[in-house]
Amino acid sequence: MTAVNPEQRVSELTKLLNDYNHQYYVLDNPTVPDAEYDRLMRELQAIEGEHPQLKSATSPSQRVGGEALDSFSQITHLKPMLSLDNAFNDDEMADFVRRLEERTGQNAEAFCCEPKLDGLAVSLLYVDGQLARAATRGDGQVGEDITQNVKTIKAIPLTLRGEDYPAQIEIRGEVFMPFAAFDGLNERAATKGEKGFANPRNAAAGSLRQLDSKITASRGLSFYAYSTGVVDGVTTPMASTHYDQLHQLKGWGVPVCPEIKRVNSLDEMISYYQDILNRRSELAYEIDGVVNKLDSIAGQDKAGFVAKAPRWAIAYKFPAQEEITTLLDVDFQVGRTGSITPVARLEPVFVGGVTVSNATLHNKDEIERLGVKIGDKVVIRRAGDVIPQIVSAVEAQRPDDAKDIEFPESCPVCDSEIERLEGEAVARCVGGLVCGAQRKEAIKHFASRKALDVDGLGDKLVEQLVDEDMIQAPSDLFNLTLPQLLNLERMGEKKAQKLLDALEASKSTTLAKFLYSLGIREVGEATASNLAQHFKTLDAIKAASVSRLTDVDDVGEIVAKHLYYFLRKDNNLEVIDSLLASGIHWPEIEEKDEAALPLVGQTWVITGTLHSMGRSEAKERIAALGAKVAGSVSAKTTMLVAGEKAGSKLTKAQDLGIKTMDEDGLTAFLAQF
Ligand code: NAD
Repeated sequence: MTAVNPEQRVSELTKLLNDYNHQYYVLDNPTVPDAEYDRLMRELQAIEGEHPQLKSATSPSQRVGGEALDSFSQITHLKPMLSLDNAFNDDEMADFVRRLEERTGQNAEAFCCEPKLDGLAVSLLYVDGQLARAATRGDGQVGEDITQNVKTIKAIPLTLRGEDYPAQIEIRGEVFMPFAAFDGLNERAATKGEKGFANPRNAAAGSLRQLDSKITASRGLSFYAYSTGVVDGVTTPMASTHYDQLHQLKGWGVPVCPEIKRVNSLDEMISYYQDILNRRSELAYEIDGVVNKLDSIAGQDKAGFVAKAPRWAIAYKFPAQEEITTLLDVDFQVGRTGSITPVARLEPVFVGGVTVSNATLHNKDEIERLGVKIGDKVVIRRAGDVIPQIVSAVEAQRPDDAKDIEFPESCPVCDSEIERLEGEAVARCVGGLVCGAQRKEAIKHFASRKALDVDGLGDKLVEQLVDEDMIQAPSDLFNLTLPQLLNLERMGEKKAQKLLDALEASKSTTLAKFLYSLGIREVGEATASNLAQHFKTLDAIKAASVSRLTDVDDVGEIVAKHLYYFLRKDNNLEVIDSLLASGIHWPEIEEKDEAALPLVGQTWVITGTLHSMGRSEAKERIAALGAKVAGSVSAKTTMLVAGEKAGSKLTKAQDLGIKTMDEDGLTAFLAQF
């Protein structure tokens, strides 16, 4: 690395951080991820630590937040509203405890651990139990008067309950937007063709700082208190610990986060962090870490403050879910149904716990919406197990040679025409099985576990067979011979014979699996199974009109049309005929006395991991007993089978009071039949 002049770097970092602060706090529209901001801030703090003469009182490292907007009247806080210091790993947490103990000269015996809510800090002043005024944090000294807007937030009491509250009490906490409200807001914006908010924090800040409080009222904001400011005229003394004070607030009707916990050691703080991190996706609101506070108020007073944060509290931040990286190129992938998906090739970046080097750009509209170019710095988001997304391009850092992303005019694989039907976001290659990519995907799908389940025919081998021109369509698989297979690289006699045996075995299947294996758009496993049960024979399905097809459970107009037209195309019928000619067969579906089945009229849902059987097997066995097996929990669900790591479906079922059964329960239940 080249040596950088520290003075010059401090000035660069100051400018950058001031710009980012303005975008984040004043405009509620950040342009870089928090991780990038935090890195730059740490770099500034490190240089200032080494060269104290470069640290000015107005450095971003010494200041809280951003200035108050002129459009609101301003309120000077009775006691400054500060920020928090950050820790990013266990060692930094240990340093925090060590420093705290050195400073107070005593063991830190208890801490209060709280989720770090990702919203914005507000101060609520109650005089004689009435909400008298509310303010944003602003720059920590002066905030904005948002009293009218705060009064529209239902979680915030206008009057405190009970009688023992102080004559004057300032309550501090976080206004935030729960995910449900955030998703609804962005969906509404999308239907109006408006730009949504980047994240719940910005949405909360943007909604609270509205000149028209009716808008704030419509945004579904919520609030949890996390501390007190100035307290005067107490009738009952305030509790001597932070945790107990929060419970006092709760007693006066002020909501406090139910996840708060008192712990007694560094190890317990770290366990709390891990636990909340694991449960993060189940919470109804966004959090970006946990806040650990020395519980003793006397201890807090002893520890005191540094320029912009208390010494007795620290935010232990979660690993970043958003990072910044470079968009190196865009490739266009052709899927099984010909869909053309732009895939971003990225400079590898560690985000959300994994290294990401590709992200989908979905379609042409999404590329236009993002306004992203090749060479841009882009913000990548990976939350939970969700596939990585490009959130935005950092336009301010666009290089001069950034290139527009050109959507191909013809299929990048087979050069066929690309069509985009009206009302569809996806562009598709019309080549069908002429297209090598679609051919590969169709054959992979045909051989996959839930379809014909050809053991030993993995994706790589399918690609090899298509690339060598040994197969063109699924039915060609059944004409493969031993000598042909032996010509392939890395193919021994044993492996080849095993594959031929597996192909032979796969010919014995079910009508449902066969239908599914054809890869008809929108005809998934459940739909295929319903179709088979309903019509009993392939000929009956072939003969059915669109309206008769929609008589089948879960088959809507769109699915019915896809199926109907698929079965009217000559080349598809040829594929079916040649598959049947190669010997694929299935047992006849008997007319069941449906009414006599034990689960008739019930709807079951399966979630989580099952160890003793696959989810599809469980589904088949439950369906065979007459139940409908649905994908989502609703009031109509009869039973939820919850395997290991069951998540939101289990929570929903419990909320709705629906019966649940674990894997052992299911095994015992099925054993009765
Ligand atoms: P912060 O958000 O890291 O922490 C302090 C705030 O945490 C408090 O003001 C309070 O609002 C909140 N908080 C939530 N739960 C709390 C609890 N239980 N107890 C106490 N406080 C709680 O600090 P900040 O000064 O508001 O913002 C700095 C952070 O904001 C940076 O670390 C960065 O991640 C982000 N930021 C990003 C950009 C950007 O451009 N992306 C710009 C500026 C700031």
